[in-house]
Amino acid sequence: MSSVRVRFAPSPTGYLHIGGARTALYNWLWAKKTGGTFILRIEDTDVARSTEASVQAIFDALDWLGLDWDEGPRVGGADGPYFQRERLPIYRAHADRLVEEGRAYRCYATKAELDEARRAHEREHGGKRGFKYPGWWRDKTERDWPAGDVPFVYRLKVPHEGATGWDDLVKGTIEIGHRELQDEVLMRSDGIPLYNFGCVVDDLEMGITLVARGDDHVINTPMQILIWRALGAEAPAFAHLPMILDERRKKMSKRDDAGSVEVYRERGFVPDGLLNYLARLGWSHGDDELLTREELIERFDWSGVGKEGAGYDEKKLAHVQAHHLRRMPGDVIAAAALPFAEARGLAIAPDDPRLVPAVETVRQRAVTLADVANMIDYYFREPPELDEKAAKQLAPSVLAPLRSFRALTAGHEPFERVSLEDAVKAWMEAEGLTFKDYAQAVRVALSGRTATPGLFEVMEVLGKTRCLARLDAAIAKLEAEG
Ligand code: GLU
Repeated sequence: MSSVRVRFAPSPTGYLHIGGARTALYNWLWAKKTGGTFILRIEDTDVARSTEASVQAIFDALDWLGLDWDEGPRVGGADGPYFQRERLPIYRAHADRLVEEGRAYRCYATKAELDEARRAHEREHGGKRGFKYPGWWRDKTERDWPAGDVPFVYRLKVPHEGATGWDDLVKGTIEIGHRELQDEVLMRSDGIPLYNFGCVVDDLEMGITLVARGDDHVINTPMQILIWRALGAEAPAFAHLPMILDERRKKMSKRDDAGSVEVYRERGFVPDGLLNYLARLGWSHGDDELLTREELIERFDWSGVGKEGAGYDEKKLAHVQAHHLRRMPGDVIAAAALPFAEARGLAIAPDDPRLVPAVETVRQRAVTLADVANMIDYYFREPPELDEKAAKQLAPSVLAPLRSFRALTAGHEPFERVSLEDAVKAWMEAEGLTFKDYAQAVRVALSGRTATPGLFEVMEVLGKTRCLARLDAAIAKLEAEG
């Protein structure tokens, strides 16, 4: 087991965004590649916005994508618990120790005092320079603390001079002067840590060696490094991943429809397709576009991650997705497509002998499992739905060829593609017909649609009894109309 320990630390405040899924994926790939450990930690300290349903949505999305974690909720581990809200005594202990060691301090400034100082600052500087906490309590000691239960916050003593930087595995060297920082609030007296403090305490306690997350967190990293040092430890490595941009090159937000993993699942994407696309969104490995999970593990490296925003491209996603769908064995596609058929009101028995052959006729044209369900619909629906465009093609002029085709079909054995095709060719010649004279009418009679896979493939899957019944129904309809 290598010593690599990485984590995914989502806040459960909505569904899992594809940016979050990609962060999880890169961490997971790195753990798999290095034989390291992938940890899931739920950062639920935002009590107002965190919900059970969001936690469940994160689990469901990761389960669906097949991104399993080695330590975390459900599986446990030596450094648990893995929900921040269950770790409050740990934060308290670290905060108190920092105060004892003089690296942090209790600040009893009230909101009213701070608001007044902020207003005074604004009067003096306008909106030009941001307000910073003036350090009123920085050099005070326990003797100065008010008696009784007066609320306070823990603040970090940030050095006034110097700078803090790191060599980001993706972005290169980044450095921020301490003048730009202020004495950060680590925790309030209610014991709920602020993000930077909770995150660092947990990364430290969980032995994290590399923090990989979205580059919206670059701004937090200098403070986190200072907290690591205050806690007496060296910060881990950092990799900040480029944001995913929508088609207008704007940051894709949680509100974006295409932003949630759940949406892709509902649309009938297969997990390997979405994973492959997300892996390539912001990471490149030569021209290789279509990669299996194993290939991703083998090739993934931080050096291939781009510095700048990665553009989401629905067309490329569809291409990658379709490729992965087509790689799946027919019986696996069939089983996965059943819920999508059910959503169309079609209950197909999993052992229906038409199922896998039907899927085989459409798999090359489908992009999603929902497409598969749509494309095989008429094989199972009695009677097949007749679409409007198709209905127009069942005109009185096709009655004669339909009757003749019906007679030919009724007498034909074996009912399989090649043999049917040969027989139909002979019949066309004998009757002096061309494909155009009858094929579209037969297609519509059998499927209710104007476009299907090859007619003889469709006939073989439907079987003789159904073909005859459907031809009869179309003939009867035309006769009734005529
Ligand atoms: N809870 C933070 C988020 O969801 C985690 C950031 C991090 O990975 O440090 O953005």
